[in-house]
Amino acid sequence: MKSIAIIQARMGSSRLPGKSLMDLRGQPILAWVVRAAKAVIGIDAVIVATSTLSDDNQISDWCDDNNIDCFRGSNDDVLSRFYYAAKAKNASYILRLTADCPFLDPAVCNAVLYLLLKEKADYVSNTSPPSWPDGLDCEGISFTALENAHFEACLTGDREHVSQFIFRNRSRFKTHAIICPIPGLSNERWVVDCLEDLNFVRTLAKQIERNKIPSYIEILTILKHLPNTHQTNISVSRNEGLAKSQSIEKFFEVNKFDRSIAMLERAEKVIPLGSQTFSKSHTQFPKNVAPLFVSHGEGGRIWDIDGNEYVDLICGLLPVSLGYRDPDVDHAVREQLTCGISFSLATELEAELAEQIINIIPSAEMVRFGKNGTDATSASIRLARAFTGRDKVIVCGYHGWQDWYIGSTTRDKGVPPLYKKLTFSVPFNDLGAVRKLLREHSGEFAAMILEPMSSIEPVAEYLNELKALLHKHGVLLIFDEVVTGFRYSLGGAQSLFGVTPDLSSFGKGLGNGMPISAIVGRADIMKQMEEVFVSGTFGGESLSLAAAIAVIKKMHREPVIETLWNTGDVLAVKVNKLITQYNLDQVITLNGCSPWIILNFAVYQNVETSAVRTLFVAEMLKRGVLILNSHNICYAHNSTDIEKVVSAYDGALRVIREAFDSGSFKEWLNYPAIDPVFQVRKL
Ligand code: PMP
Repeated sequence: MKSIAIIQARMGSSRLPGKSLMDLRGQPILAWVVRAAKAVIGIDAVIVATSTLSDDNQISDWCDDNNIDCFRGSNDDVLSRFYYAAKAKNASYILRLTADCPFLDPAVCNAVLYLLLKEKADYVSNTSPPSWPDGLDCEGISFTALENAHFEACLTGDREHVSQFIFRNRSRFKTHAIICPIPGLSNERWVVDCLEDLNFVRTLAKQIERNKIPSYIEILTILKHLPNTHQTNISVSRNEGLAKSQSIEKFFEVNKFDRSIAMLERAEKVIPLGSQTFSKSHTQFPKNVAPLFVSHGEGGRIWDIDGNEYVDLICGLLPVSLGYRDPDVDHAVREQLTCGISFSLATELEAELAEQIINIIPSAEMVRFGKNGTDATSASIRLARAFTGRDKVIVCGYHGWQDWYIGSTTRDKGVPPLYKKLTFSVPFNDLGAVRKLLREHSGEFAAMILEPMSSIEPVAEYLNELKALLHKHGVLLIFDEVVTGFRYSLGGAQSLFGVTPDLSSFGKGLGNGMPISAIVGRADIMKQMEEVFVSGTFGGESLSLAAAIAVIKKMHREPVIETLWNTGDVLAVKVNKLITQYNLDQVITLNGCSPWIILNFAVYQNVETSAVRTLFVAEMLKRGVLILNSHNICYAHNSTDIEKVVSAYDGALRVIREAFDSGSFKEWLNYPAIDPVFQVRKL
């Protein structure tokens, strides 16, 4: 069983031609990489793999002069170059290295190779998620996985980036990641991609003893003594080449859903709906042309179990506010994991997070935690009932799956009629409807719970007047900020609109995907919880608390909310332009705030909205965008993601226009139209 290191090298870099052979303290950069590769324990051979282009003769000449194995293969199809290089050496395991990482650390590569062999894995990397400095990149690949990729991969990007096929098809391969034990290093850039990088590594190399292989700790220590040096080159984004190749792929030429379809069949036998959430289930996606099961996510993208890649505009139904595998949140979770998950008593984390929430949310004087948004909205309703001694509630928006709310919708099976009589639904911005209810049921309402904003903006003074009206009748105002919290502003919609409710519920974005929600509010009401029964085994589960603390810290430290607004705005402006360009203004409108734009579909030419929405979702999916009916922006969505979404819109709207113009819209729909999960029952 042979293990070899293959170093990918070429002269034709677009940003820094000839970089592999450029001088770094008296030796070419490639020599640094070869030296480090040879120091990896258990490596039987080190091979430089370059192309057959004449430019790359310089690389093979250098290898000849220095007695280093050189393999030559395709320039663009690097996957095949690796495959044939590995085959020629009869290797069972391959370390993939690149010739632009002069400070490659053999100890880190040791860990990658050791784990690959120990676990008999297909793929181990230290690059995904990015946690190490850029420039320590090392991937371990089994020959079997490389061979599968070589024979199956057909996307240009999969051929150009050796491990992309394996990365995309994660559910088919046994993969592991090596995470950097020191947090916050993923922004360090020690790779040589441009002149700025070269100058930077040259400054560093001067501090390293000749012929010494520096460990990454030594590099960090040198940097500590060279103030400001490591800040010079971080403006260049990580893996730009990979992102570019992914953005131009024509996904709809290759998308297959065989594994998703088979998995649904299996899941439905043991799980009603095959999913835990209505909105994530197959009922909400066009049949046979949509991904139904996800294998992994990164930043603003996800991959399904068939290896299809999507820019994700659902983001887990909004909890993913920062992005998938956010390094800071993941690190906080991992650190907490070293102490334990759920305990027999409370932890200090609970008070720490509560204090932080009180600092940022205007209405928060005290806090309790739950898991789902439903926990927080239900706790607020029970609390309001206990505080006021009244039973009836007014609802406005969506508030979860509990009896008191869902009984007011069309999906009310199983809710006793008794409960339904206690809940009254009103339209947003309609003070008159609230006034009427308060008059008709005087002294009977405990609270009104509403989403302070979803698709419609509150008209001037609506929220203030609502608060005054409710208080006049002894009714509490509860904001359901499960979506708007940690999205509209750090202090929630209440801070944005300057209206402080009595109680509020938060969830979703608070934990960047970890299950945590919070009910916050006036101390005199919250204190009732010393009597009122709101109590759960997992309320103080510590990984989620640690995640939420990390989310809030990051939101304080970085322009997260500002970016959600900007990214959402850029997208909305471009999409609106396209809607007008395709003369679809009467069909599709964008509403809501930029971090959470909601699409409204209208009946047009007698075509039902569900048909238009279904065709829209299907056409967006074909073009690599996962969307329901809103733009759920996360901090990690970058300009490449947004460009991809815009170009998907361009294609999808063109098809919708053509479908209308054809006069037979339904014929364009090769699957049943999707019905919404439920509708609010009219009073
Ligand atoms: N309130 C609002 C405004 C929501 O959007 C949701 C979830 N979509 C909930 C409450 C319920 O949250 P969960 O699904 O986490 O129970």
